[in-house]
Amino acid sequence: MSDAPKTMCSFPWEMYSVDVGFGWWRPCPRIDFQKLNDLDLFNHDRLKLLRKNLRSNVQDELCNKCWDDEKRGLRSYRQVLNQDRLNEFADSTELSSPTILEIKFQNYCNLKCMFCSRNCSSQWEASEPFEASELGSIKGEMAKQASYELLEREIDNIRTIQVFGGEPVLHPEFSHVVKTLNRLAPEGGKELSFSTNLFFSPKIMSRFIEEIEEVLRSGHKLYLRVSIDGVGQQGEYLREGLKWSVFERNLFILRDFLAKQKDFGRAKCNIALNILNLTSLGDIVSYLQSHELTLFQPHYNYVGKPSMLTLSSFGEKIAPAVQQVRDTDFGIYQSYKDHVLSLAEPVARIAPNTDSMEKLKLFLSTQAHFTYNEFFEAFPNNEYIREALR
Ligand code: SF4
Ligand code: SF4
Repeated sequence: MSDAPKTMCSFPWEMYSVDVGFGWWRPCPRIDFQKLNDLDLFNHDRLKLLRKNLRSNVQDELCNKCWDDEKRGLRSYRQVLNQDRLNEFADSTELSSPTILEIKFQNYCNLKCMFCSRNCSSQWEASEPFEASELGSIKGEMAKQASYELLEREIDNIRTIQVFGGEPVLHPEFSHVVKTLNRLAPEGGKELSFSTNLFFSPKIMSRFIEEIEEVLRSGHKLYLRVSIDGVGQQGEYLREGLKWSVFERNLFILRDFLAKQKDFGRAKCNIALNILNLTSLGDIVSYLQSHELTLFQPHYNYVGKPSMLTLSSFGEKIAPAVQQVRDTDFGIYQSYKDHVLSLAEPVARIAPNTDSMEKLKLFLSTQAHFTYNEFFEAFPNNEYIREALR
């Protein structure tokens, strides 16, 4: 195997995501979903071409978000996640299976988070339904069966089964995946990975705890990420529909359950970093530390769209927020602080996008659940945003 070409990214060799409801695929979370028109899920022509391009120094257009970020002097997704390296199978375009298989069960979700989209939230889709022409030809039962066949056939080669939604725990297929893993119970176990908003009734929360307990009992591990983008009112603002008290009750139940397990795997606090919560990160890490939630490591995850919510929309105007982050004590989470700064500092050197800033102003002014002024009352550290939007 030769040295890594400049365009190398190991995602297309390692990860495969299929949205069985809409009939889409993608090899990494940064690429927009593509229409799925081939039942050979992990070796269809477009994916093979992507692999060929990435290892031949060709900037495949599917990866334009990474190339654009790099051209602007920002750290791209592949660089941030250290994926700009050779995979051990990089010389092959045809592979038997990904190591991370993500199955996305359409988009049913009980929330309408600001930085989400109709791809991932049925509540966003309600106001902007999909046209049939936007969906792939392999979808529904056919895509689901193909995904489950890949999972069962390649279980020994798959390391992580990632379930995605919408809110995956609320989807009936979550239980199916759990049962399948428990039935197969391969030697050494697998990793069941998912993010969850934990906004459940007590009944669903009990079922959820029973299911993950069974997963652990079958010899598997968990990689679970709980979404916290703001504490209390800030979280309710960013995640429309969320009741913080319900979420918090479930978070404490989960914390207590995980604390009793010998080795459950990994738990993270998924913080969707965006222009509205950059100055609130200190509150989130302080909440984790003061509520015995330190088993949840802050997880690096940034919002790539809508563009008005990205850090880069504000460019150099985020300088006051970057200074606030520098001045905040992140306690045991210093590496997370370093990570955020490594992303935000280059952004503070580029020009702002005035169109995106105007869109944000309009957006904040037209929210039904908080007025423009109420937003700044809930996020007092964001006064710099009000100034920039004047
Ligand atoms: S180069 Fe970027 S967009 Fe392309 S697969 Fe890698 S992380 Fe994804
Ligand atoms: S909980 Fe997750 S899937 Fe649901 S709207 Fe929020 S970000 Fe999207």
